Amino acid sequence: FEELKKCDPEVADATMKEVERQNSHLELIASENWVSDAVLAALGTPLTNKYAEGYPGKRYYGGCEWVDVIENLAIERGKKLFGCDYVNVQPHSGAQANTAVFFAMLEPGDKVLGMNLNDGGHLTHGSPVNISGKYYNIIPYGVNEEGYIDYEALRELAIKERPKLIIAGASAYARALDFKKFREIADESGAYLMVDMAHIAGLVAAGLHMDPIPYADVVTTTTHKTLRGPRGGMILCNQEAADKFNFNKAVFPGIQGGPLEHVIAAKAVALKEALEPGFKEYQEQVLKNAQRLASELMKRGVKIVSGGTDNHLMLVDLGQEEITGKELEKRLDIAHITCNKNTIPNEPRSPFVTSGIRLGTPSVTTRGLKEEDMEQIAECIYLMIQSEDNAEKVRGIVKTITEKYPLV
Ligand code: PLP
Repeated sequence: FEELKKCDPEVADATMKEVERQNSHLELIASENWVSDAVLAALGTPLTNKYAEGYPGKRYYGGCEWVDVIENLAIERGKKLFGCDYVNVQPHSGAQANTAVFFAMLEPGDKVLGMNLNDGGHLTHGSPVNISGKYYNIIPYGVNEEGYIDYEALRELAIKERPKLIIAGASAYARALDFKKFREIADESGAYLMVDMAHIAGLVAAGLHMDPIPYADVVTTTTHKTLRGPRGGMILCNQEAADKFNFNKAVFPGIQGGPLEHVIAAKAVALKEALEPGFKEYQEQVLKNAQRLASELMKRGVKIVSGGTDNHLMLVDLGQEEITGKELEKRLDIAHITCNKNTIPNEPRSPFVTSGIRLGTPSVTTRGLKEEDMEQIAECIYLMIQSEDNAEKVRGIVKTITEKYPLV
């Protein structure tokens, strides 16, 4: 860091301020986490200097013998952690992993069933502003009045529409996904099944969520959410699908050029960490914290979509309150709590305003927070829903918590 300060004080200064922000705020963005020093160290290595188009043993550049070792380690650890036969660790992000899967399995114009963005799906599952929504014929599905996926309604829709692909997975769905049911629906309607486990990958790795690998034709994930690795994506599947679809070719040369070998090294490190016994304890705590946060909020009369959570996140429903998601996100920021505004099912407001916020526990759990701290966080959120005037008091509570659990 001293080198950076000397060479580029502006970047160094903003970076230091961001580290300070992360330290002094409570991070409740459900898709974020705090990586280990080992993961950070791998990211900052001269591996970033290397061009390595292709795959281990079959590269388009010389001098790839050491990045081959690293990429193979990442692949083998990914296979071991998730119990599958094929892993591609090159996607630069979750969006890239999803786009590569579509490129490998679909033709432009093919019909795809994906979860509505407003109901918790991801942009890449068919939003009209994303390439998925522009190039494929998307039939959206959503959640029922109670905030759950209605598998019977999904089955009827799939049989009526006969899509080529069904996508299971979400960015803001707090309930367990039943991949066995998704598989049955895919079989009945003659569709392939893709599971995007980006949000829940850490829970899956720890055996705390149903494993998609036995049911899906292909699974995609990010590596930086509950999995607690560097920003990036992966594609995973069993031998049958690996023989049938050329996911490698879809990633490179299909949609990407040279892989980011420093990020792949960091993925290898994170996957090693996830194979260690402490990782399961961490994920168990993530779940306990999320359940406690949801129940403490509900105790205070704050509405949670679907009345709770089975995973690491929850959606606060502000439909009955005067405050919008946008305003509450801003208010919480002033009080040093970071979250994001989020649409809720049957959202009456625009996606820029929204009637909800999404909260998640992966980051604060990495920091060391436990159930009793969730009680305090719930009180802080409640106070900020009541009035902006509570900001000073809440900042004081946040300060006590962040000082009790320093990050760096
Ligand atoms: N898939 C899901 C379910 C996600 O929630 C996200 C990100 O939030 C992505 C894919 C995309 O990941 P990235 O931001 O790395 O492109």
